[in-house]
Amino acid sequence: MPHVRAPSDPRVTWDLPAPGALPRTAVLEPLVTRVLAPNPSGMTLDGTNTYLVGEPGSGQAVLVDPGPDDPAHLAAVEEALAARDARCVAVLVTHHHGDHAEAAQPWGARFGAQVAAADAAVAGPGGRVLEPGERLRLAGTVLGVVPTPGHTPDHLAFRLESGAVLVGDHVLGRGTSVVTHPEGDVVAYLESLRRVHDLGPSALYCGHGPELTEDPGAVLDYYLAHRAFREGQLLAALVRGAGTVDALVADVYAEVPRALWPAAAQSTRATLAKLAAEGHVVVDGDRVALP
Ligand SMILES: [Zn+2]
Repeated sequence: MPHVRAPSDPRVTWDLPAPGALPRTAVLEPLVTRVLAPNPSGMTLDGTNTYLVGEPGSGQAVLVDPGPDDPAHLAAVEEALAARDARCVAVLVTHHHGDHAEAAQPWGARFGAQVAAADAAVAGPGGRVLEPGERLRLAGTVLGVVPTPGHTPDHLAFRLESGAVLVGDHVLGRGTSVVTHPEGDVVAYLESLRRVHDLGPSALYCGHGPELTEDPGAVLDYYLAHRAFREGQLLAALVRGAGTVDALVADVYAEVPRALWPAAAQSTRATLAKLAAEGHVVVDGDRVALP
């Protein structure tokens, strides 16, 4: 029988702020200020985290994931820029989802700052399309462009000189990240988790939820184990006789409210695509079988 024991999340013993208790603005380290956008939801947790990155005294800052184009959020970002005595010199975006990218072009225009992203549509006219491995010399520091496809094909993380990594939606401050079919790719996602793990990050600054500073490697190990757990659950459900995507969801997500099952089905399809590519299952439309 496949291994189906749930891995435990190392963060349960950490002293993380309760959901909804993240401060509006926080200086995480000399290089980084975080500004929380006022868009909390089931998907965005406390809201989207917008980051300002720059060497203190450089008079400059890079804005990473401006988030929603919301006047109150813009005011908070401008206040944080003023507190850093910095002007915005570039806008970077981890991926094209609106809760990260919506304000990129309007605020880039407002600040006279170039927008940069992996997706040309996000970078916009006059923007810059980022390549994996690029080193961006901006605001008196260097940001490394780390490809992290999986949640979306265009997803990037940014490695700072301090060793911290801005991970967007690749890793969340609470719970696990969502990889859904057809946008997401579980194989790419797992490779991206290992890539960030190999960087030996000193901290993970997430697109949503609190900063992870205590043992970032343990969180990445947990994310990998959680994915393996989900695969094991699906294989075990197939052994028990579930033969369709819906039956698999009803078995594996029995304890989860039914309203979340459609999302669970998209996540299940993404995992099944990996298992099918590896020859562990055969998927034919909604029908799923062991080979
Ligand atoms: Zn997001």
